[in-house]
Order: sequence, then structure tokens, then C-alpha cells
Amino acid sequence: MLDDRTVQRALAAKGAYKGAIDGAYGEATARAARCALIGDHHDIAAWIDPRCRIAIEQAIMAAAGIESGPVDGLAGPQTRIAWERWQDRLRGLTPRAAEIAHQPDVFPRQKDVPGFYGEPGTHQAMLDLPFPMRLAWDKGTVIRRFAIHEKARESAARAFAGIRAHYGEDAIRRLGLDLFAGCLNIRAMRGGKALSMHSWGIAIDFDPEHNPLRWGRDKARMAGPDYAPFLDIWESEGWISLGRERNYDWMHVQAARL
Ligand SMILES: [Zn+2]
Repeated sequence: MLDDRTVQRALAAKGAYKGAIDGAYGEATARAARCALIGDHHDIAAWIDPRCRIAIEQAIMAAAGIESGPVDGLAGPQTRIAWERWQDRLRGLTPRAAEIAHQPDVFPRQKDVPGFYGEPGTHQAMLDLPFPMRLAWDKGTVIRRFAIHEKARESAARAFAGIRAHYGEDAIRRLGLDLFAGCLNIRAMRGGKALSMHSWGIAIDFDPEHNPLRWGRDKARMAGPDYAPFLDIWESEGWISLGRERNYDWMHVQAARL
């Protein structure tokens, strides 16, 4: 990702942003990003703010001569590579030095999870939530934070902030996106012997009552259109939805590829 000041400066140079270059990507900056994109994208009204943000970064990188693919607001492989190139430039790395310095910037496949994340249950850190959640099995209990793997924490924090920004607390509650059904939990996969991704604290479950394990998109609540931005936000951070990928366990998102 590009830092907020860089984005604000670029938007100011286009005449789209008149506010302070203060590194606070608030409503005014988000609006400016949307305005700057309007001419080229007729469907932009349907784009969520995080998608506009990625699109404006793609446009900035392209203008700087870094090939980032189409300006579509989707963080595909080409955009991820472009972000790396951008960081390389900031750090003044030669291409060879950059190659050595690069860490994989996407989450590992499930089979590579132990090597990437370590022993089950280790390297956990607390994630502070930007909105209160309720325990799905005891709705009177409110939680403000939970334990998650430290390598998945930052992306989850961005996703929760994006969810808060997109829906607002009322809709979050109405849609049951505040119903927390667990992250870290060392156990076997349901119906299998291999360890669940929850064992590493890299999977989160939401609202199991309306999204039971075996329900497909015909019944699972999370498969509905109101939940598409929610899942888009997780996917934009490299997480995957088992519902979208496999059409079961719609309650579950994870920081590991299949
Ligand atoms: Zn799960």
C-alpha cells in the first residue's frame, strides 16, 4: 500500500483534494479519490471506499511508471507486485537487492501454514476491534478484542476498519456481522483429522446460527448481496471466504489460501 500522505499529495496535484496533507485518510480524502476516478469508471458508485483507495493507488503507480495493471481497485497479483516495486523505490533498492529483501506478501496455502505461521497456538497478539462484537453463543457478552496470529493481525485490523467504515455500527449489528464465533481454537477441521486453520488463530467465524457449516448459498445468510462488500473487504486483504470458494462454511474467513 501507498502511505496516506502520498495519496493525498497526488489527489491535490490533480485538483481533486483541497484539504491538508496530514496523513489522515478520512472522508474528505476518500471523496476526493472517488471524484478523481469518476471520468474513467461509470460503475464507481457501486465501489466501496477501500476499492476506490486501491484504484487511486493503481493510478498513482501507473503515472509513476510502475505497471500495476488495469485501474480496477482490485488487489490482484500485478497490483501486489507494483506495491513491492513502489516500496523498493522508496527504499532505494536495486532490483537484485529487492528480490532478496522480498518476503512473500500473500498468505500461504493451507499446506504451508505450519511453516509460515509456526506451531499451533503460538505467536498470538490481541486485535482491538473498531466496533463492539457479541459472542455468538452468548449474545449478552460484548467483546472489544480477541487473540489472533501476529502475522494476520494487521490485515484483519484493516479489514475490520473497512467493515466499520462501509457499513456503520447499526448495519453491522442488523446484519449480524458483530456476532463473533471464534478465532484461535486448537482443534481438528470439522469432519476431518487435519488441524483447523483456527488452530493458528488465522480464521474468524461470524454468525454461525445463520451460516451453519453445511448450508450452501441458497440458505446461508452470508451468501446474500448485503454481505458482498464484507467478503470483498476480506478478499482485498488476501483472506479467503470458504463460502465463496467452496460454498460451505459461509461463517468462516481465513488468512490462508486453499
Ligand atoms: Zn471457522
